[in-house]
Amino acid sequence: MIRGGTCPRCRTGEVLAVLRLPRSWTNTSGSLVRGTRDVLLCAACDADDPLAGPVVTYFAVHGRARPQDAALLAACLLRWIAGARPAEPDERALRAEAEAWRRGDL
Ligand SMILES: [Zn+2]
Repeated sequence: MIRGGTCPRCRTGEVLAVLRLPRSWTNTSGSLVRGTRDVLLCAACDADDPLAGPVVTYFAVHGRARPQDAALLAACLLRWIAGARPAEPDERALRAEAEAWRRGDL
């Protein structure tokens, strides 16, 4: 998917692309659970990323995907996709939230 909405990380940048990756895990019952995990490309968060930067620059210059640039934009997106990885959970934030929940602060 290309373009849509405000970034949930920074709440200011525009989401320029979403890469949906398959994800599976085994639950406590031993069953395989299949799902997806999204990797967002944000105009603000990812502007300095070497793989996402060209896509951010493209939309900053042109504002939208232009038919005459399809090959260029596809090449930029494919470079980003090749290196895109889902964000890892912030263990410290998760522990702090769990502790706040135990204290009854949530
Ligand atoms: Zn962002």
